[in-house]
Amino acid sequence: MLSFEHFPLGWRDVIDIALVTICFYYLLRFVRGTRAVAALQGLVLLLFIYIVARMLSFFTLSWLLESFFGSLFLVIVVLFSDDIRKGLASINPRSLFRKKETIRDSLIHELVNVSLDLAKTKTGAIIVLELNVALGDYMQRGVALDAKLSADLIKTIFFPNTALHDGAIIINRDGRIVAAGCVLPLTKMLERQSYGTRHRAALGVTEVSDALAIVISEERGAITIAHEGHLSNPLNHERMERILTNVLS
Ligand code: ATP
Ligand code: MG
Repeated sequence: MLSFEHFPLGWRDVIDIALVTICFYYLLRFVRGTRAVAALQGLVLLLFIYIVARMLSFFTLSWLLESFFGSLFLVIVVLFSDDIRKGLASINPRSLFRKKETIRDSLIHELVNVSLDLAKTKTGAIIVLELNVALGDYMQRGVALDAKLSADLIKTIFFPNTALHDGAIIINRDGRIVAAGCVLPLTKMLERQSYGTRHRAALGVTEVSDALAIVISEERGAITIAHEGHLSNPLNHERMERILTNVLS
């Protein structure tokens, strides 16, 4: 039986453990959906090989892997220097709040305006906003962009009969268009209603994540928003702005 009598647990230890837990939580959230996940899987495999090699007393292989794990910290820094730099920059407290608010306001403004323009010309579109759940899987099936948000770019992407107009664009938390032509999972709901695949795809992505999806209908020229597995009625300028503000604050 594990007894805590021999482990005097002071308030320092509690704070220490809490801090490490928070660090790991944000680290995992940060790497989710990035190439770091694939690398982590590789590391777990190597660890497994190492354990087997130790059990079977394969001296040279164990020694080799032991040396590798000894310099693991350096390997990680070299492999992920770009991601680490990005991560450190994003925890700069000075820019954290101010930047987030201005990004949010201009994002909402831009999205409302471009949706109204697309609706006016009856241009079919799905605009997905990635929130806390990473949508890496769906991005990988589309075309990677990483572009600054601009109404003109979105209108160009959805211009009929162009290469990328089919499928959805995904905008990340920093307000960048990260991918276009993305194929989303279709919801099983709406089947008996008059909605087609565009609306079912938009609703589908909100069932597997906390993302928000704006749909512009080609047939009706209407704007609707899907969020948390619900599809709104057609929205006007004010209601759209209100929903976006609510979800993004
Ligand atoms: P609309 O009101 O614009 O006609 P709809 O709900 O009736 O929309 P469809 O007419 O079936 O839907 O729209 C087809 C378009 O929806 C496709 O050309 C494609 O761009 C998009 N689409 C279909 N399936 C998906 C999917 N799985 N993921 C993303 N986009 C999709
Ligand atoms: Mg249709």
